Amino acid sequence: MIPDDLDHLVDKLDLESKVRLLTGATVWRTPAEPAIGLEPMVTSDGPAGVRGEGWDERRTSLSLPSATALAATWDESLAQSIGELLAVEARRKGVHVVLAPTLNLHRSPLAGRHFECYSEDPLLTGRIGAAVIRGIQSRGVAATAKHYVANDSETDRLTLDARVDERTLREVYLAPFEAAVQAGVWVVMSAYNGVNGVTMSENELLAEPLKGEWGFDGVVVSDWGAVRSAAASARAAQDLVMPGPDGPWGEALVAAVRAGEVPEPAIDDKVRRLLRLAARVGALPCSPAPSTADPSAGDLTAPAALSPSAGSPTTGSVGDRPDRAERPDRALLRRTVAASTVLLRNEGGLLPLVPARLTRVAVIGPHAARPRIQGGGSAGVYPESLVTPLAGLRTALNGHAEVHHATGVALGGLPAPLDAANARNPRTGEPGLLVRLLDAAGSEIYAEHRLTGRLPEPEGPIHRAAAVEVRALVLPDRAGPWDVAAAGWGRLELTVDGRVVIDETVPRHTDDPATVHLAPPYRTTRVTLEADRQVEIVARRELVPGGGRACVLAAAPAPADAAAELAAAVELAGSCDVAVVVVGTTEQAESEGVDRETLALPGGQDELVRAVAAANPATVVVVNSGGPVAMPWRKEAAAVLVSWFPGEEGGNGLADVLLGRAEPGGRLPTTWADRALAPTVPEQGVLEYAEGPHIGYRGWLREQDSPAYWFGHGLGYTTWAYEGLCAPERVAPGRPALVRVTLRNTGRRAGREVVQVYLARPQDHERPVRWLAGFAAVTAGPGERVEAVVEVPARAFQHWAGAWRTAEGEVSVLAGRSAADLPLEAVITVSYS
Ligand code: BGC
Repeated sequence: MIPDDLDHLVDKLDLESKVRLLTGATVWRTPAEPAIGLEPMVTSDGPAGVRGEGWDERRTSLSLPSATALAATWDESLAQSIGELLAVEARRKGVHVVLAPTLNLHRSPLAGRHFECYSEDPLLTGRIGAAVIRGIQSRGVAATAKHYVANDSETDRLTLDARVDERTLREVYLAPFEAAVQAGVWVVMSAYNGVNGVTMSENELLAEPLKGEWGFDGVVVSDWGAVRSAAASARAAQDLVMPGPDGPWGEALVAAVRAGEVPEPAIDDKVRRLLRLAARVGALPCSPAPSTADPSAGDLTAPAALSPSAGSPTTGSVGDRPDRAERPDRALLRRTVAASTVLLRNEGGLLPLVPARLTRVAVIGPHAARPRIQGGGSAGVYPESLVTPLAGLRTALNGHAEVHHATGVALGGLPAPLDAANARNPRTGEPGLLVRLLDAAGSEIYAEHRLTGRLPEPEGPIHRAAAVEVRALVLPDRAGPWDVAAAGWGRLELTVDGRVVIDETVPRHTDDPATVHLAPPYRTTRVTLEADRQVEIVARRELVPGGGRACVLAAAPAPADAAAELAAAVELAGSCDVAVVVVGTTEQAESEGVDRETLALPGGQDELVRAVAAANPATVVVVNSGGPVAMPWRKEAAAVLVSWFPGEEGGNGLADVLLGRAEPGGRLPTTWADRALAPTVPEQGVLEYAEGPHIGYRGWLREQDSPAYWFGHGLGYTTWAYEGLCAPERVAPGRPALVRVTLRNTGRRAGREVVQVYLARPQDHERPVRWLAGFAAVTAGPGERVEAVVEVPARAFQHWAGAWRTAEGEVSVLAGRSAADLPLEAVITVSYS
């Protein structure tokens, strides 16, 4: 409940106090104001799990499927349940504001953060995003629609100026944010980039359409570090600057108000919005306890111990969770993995596999035993554990078939950070590493035990420290060359048993927080180690201004002989009934802060797939990536699946699909092609959205070319006949239309089909060739006929020309199973009479 007297609370504060509330108190918290009973609010990323306050591997989180996976379900009810699960996690970790969902679009598959956004289509993005928002907020936790707007790629993301015409902005890039506001979102995050010449934290788009025309009554928070001015951003409807406590507002904004550059009522409005948000999430005393037990979501694990105070940011406490086995939240994740897996190809009905007919199964590929469950960057969380494809299949086939594994290819790249599985703390002997802070004289001022050698935020009195050091004892399991690495900015030193093997000063070349704090550059060298002779490896970095405190210590055996690895995999494939090859991208290839240069799979993975498919005709390729990759071998493998970044339950969900316990429910939320249509590299700071509204499938249709797999495509385990389409003959401008599609399950299994409806106006060359206008899922048993009722909203008939307008005349309505497989057509006449 929002108190009626927010104005009264605002009136109690002087200008300095009001302005103080508008910059974070810390990196993740907003300030408290005891004078009016305002408690701090804790924010946390993010889209695929709630990390909690800070980066700490000892406080684990549920790792959810990536946004691309969620959109691939085309299932709003599932998306809402995932939103509820995010809220439960948020409450468990004392978080009030979840920094998700990401509503930017897949303008180009090269975009590094593609995995974190839902789709290339604004309607699908808006509907899935709105469902996630409803889910999060149903439990009294704020969702954040980000990054407003046109933050669709990473190259120079802090400074690039996206040039987008007004019509494209309205019809494409703003549309998902409009849907978020209609869903009642409480926070919107302004982006780093500029749009049409003005950086987003100063852009008039914050006022119109966001706050004015759409009526957004929540808080506009900045992306972390995005505000660079006082008066200009404060005038421009930016409400809250993150992170804090330092920032461009503070005294400078007080002075700007006093100088008449920013009207004080504008400050009052920002504070009122902040208080409204606090009331909504339970951080203002008169507001009710946020709901932690929503009966409609009874299948989630809502810790009973949680109340606003138990989960309060002041304690930062983490509630206990029940035993992981059989937990309903994990069951939801597992179900979501199956529902999001897209079966692109299934020649000869190879899938589902029949366990009774299997004796030996080969699980091959670099991602089989070391999958990528999430994309890189701020969306990352530390899962308590994860189920690999290999482990998922081993469990599922236990008692039926032998499961054998070969890596097939060594991806090379950077050695993995040490962790509790392969390192011990030299001081205590416990599995893990010793992290120390040292003063300028090299004396220890703080020490702690950690479970990973990848430390974005080491704890301790960092303001007094001159260096961060990470130490580990490693017992090599094999003799020979090992790659050892350290990462961090400033002077970086790595020693092995006291011998200095790296000593280099690494200059900081970027301000991007995702790089500075999460991905400092590695320095790697090769050393020779003896088997079973323990060594102590130490990484030390000096702390430099603006360089964060991230530090990494990594070590791994050098990649084995590539030809021998490949040969072993091929031999294994040839000796098994079926070969499952799991391939995918690396953290260098799909991460925040950097775009991809190519859609090709890294390393020798293409060659591996081809060799395995040649050795065994029953080859199933599983693509473990957050976004499209080129698949030059796609016609050589009998079956191809996309598993996305599936989160911690990935291996179980995959096994369910492969063995037919669940249908692969996913349909592509974005076109999969071997090349990108839109560039992501700005020229002289400017990125022209020259293609206008023609992104994704719209672009391919306009080019009259075919991608590898169209938007909307995906096979289940049954087949469908599209039999009839019934659309109204006439629709009045500004009115929605109900379209009914009759279809029949012509296969032998029950299944679910996502019926897609597109509109086209062939005579109007300004519009895309066709565009998604609605969708609905149906389920049916074998032989059963069903009707999908698809609502086509009024907006689908409209275009932007200074205002929303509906052109009269004939509109084609097409229905089917992808943007290019549309067997049914009807015509609707849009007219007033
Ligand atoms: C990202 C945001 C994220 C924020 C806080 C930024 O670099 O762009 O998406 O919420 O960091 O981690």
